Amino acid sequence: MSHVGHDEGKRPVLTAHPLQRVGAYALAFLGGAHTPEHLVPSAFDDAVGVLTDDAVRAALVRDTKHDQGFWLKASMSFFPNSKMNHPSNAKKDKEEIRTTVRSWRTCPEPGAWPEAACVLCGRAAVGFYGKKDVPLAESDVYRNTTPRGHQGLALCWPCLCCFYALPYGCRLTGGPSIALHSWDERFMARTVSRRVERSRQFIALGTADPRGGSDRETIALRALRDHDDRLTAGVELLVFSNNNRGQTLEIQSMDQPLAEWLRLSARLPARRRGFRALLRAHARPDRPGIVGLARNAFRSTELIAGACARYLTRHLDRGVIRSDSADLAELCFSLVIEVMRMNLNEIDEIRAAGGQVAAWLTAENSAGKLREFNATLKEPKRMRHWLMRRNLDALLDSRISTEGPLITEEQFRLLFDPEVEQAWFHRQLLVVSVVQRLHEQGFRPADRAEIAAELAAEEQDQPEDLVFASDEKES
Ligand SMILES: [Zn+2]
Repeated sequence: MSHVGHDEGKRPVLTAHPLQRVGAYALAFLGGAHTPEHLVPSAFDDAVGVLTDDAVRAALVRDTKHDQGFWLKASMSFFPNSKMNHPSNAKKDKEEIRTTVRSWRTCPEPGAWPEAACVLCGRAAVGFYGKKDVPLAESDVYRNTTPRGHQGLALCWPCLCCFYALPYGCRLTGGPSIALHSWDERFMARTVSRRVERSRQFIALGTADPRGGSDRETIALRALRDHDDRLTAGVELLVFSNNNRGQTLEIQSMDQPLAEWLRLSARLPARRRGFRALLRAHARPDRPGIVGLARNAFRSTELIAGACARYLTRHLDRGVIRSDSADLAELCFSLVIEVMRMNLNEIDEIRAAGGQVAAWLTAENSAGKLREFNATLKEPKRMRHWLMRRNLDALLDSRISTEGPLITEEQFRLLFDPEVEQAWFHRQLLVVSVVQRLHEQGFRPADRAEIAAELAAEEQDQPEDLVFASDEKES
């Protein structure tokens, strides 16, 4: 094998493998560098030394159920049956364990290197490696080519060490691990470095992160919030386990426009107030809004817009416009424009229609009329009929100073034409803009108290139910 430059053989390079990339950044940070290309050879050796020392310390605990057995337990999900957590360690003495773990984590002598190139970076491979060194080496998703007769992948020493460093760049749970990946290198440097700092503490202590229950998707949302620069790529959430009981890999992706919108929503002052309302819109009695938002963010952008619309209309049947309505409505429109890339002219038309409806409702000054409008939301036919009726009323009523019809032909087309694919979504946006305008106009209908009393009466428990409930208590 030709001689590889001394430096070249000790520098992790970024490849196309997401987990290798997470590991490369983790290794760089362990060596005090911000990026893999800034890791100098001596620092590379130091970083690998940290990995080895931690592995030895964990192996000496021997028992995963021990107080300090967390890293040993977590290692089973990365390097099952390796020298670090091999069942035979229970019978070995300390010195034997130290020696075997250290030799496992030592670069093979050049004489023993195969005539093969690293499958990830093309440099000289130092051996063939399988599942116990490389998480998911045999996974269906990241299937790698294995030469006939060999038990694994040809890897160079730095790429192999990236996999040894991978756990430091992951959220360790003891079970499946969570890694955040992006092709945005600045985001990777920032996010992985923060993660390494935390993981090192738990690996050193041998104890689990006390925030163990934290939801996997919120990890991505937090990382986005913490990032200072504009994102140039989307983010992927990888949840994986290399455990002997079964390899698993789940990948969730968020596209760049949504990732960037979420980042800005938490940072731009004008959007921060709306963001609080966005969380309220996603909250459930048994689940914080941040979890609902994070899940929707990985599933579909439309789910976020839908949650906003539901929240804004939740109290319309009471004739009440919530105080955070305008902020949330504005945030919702920014989502529709920046992430869903809806046609701006169409959005302007819908907002104009919403403004007209709001002006009409304000002129009527009636919570009852707002309830009426709200009741049409679920049935396009009724809404269409209601709007046409108002159109006629407006034309006939001299009190209302709207110029032209309430809703134009083009607006009707956008809202109800079966040929318009997004008509149902346009109707949601119409309601969002109606609520936004009503809030801006300080809508406080004269009959609000009356409607509220009416609703309270409707919500009163039935006498039979009350009796039944008290019987229940006695039994
Ligand atoms: Zn390599």
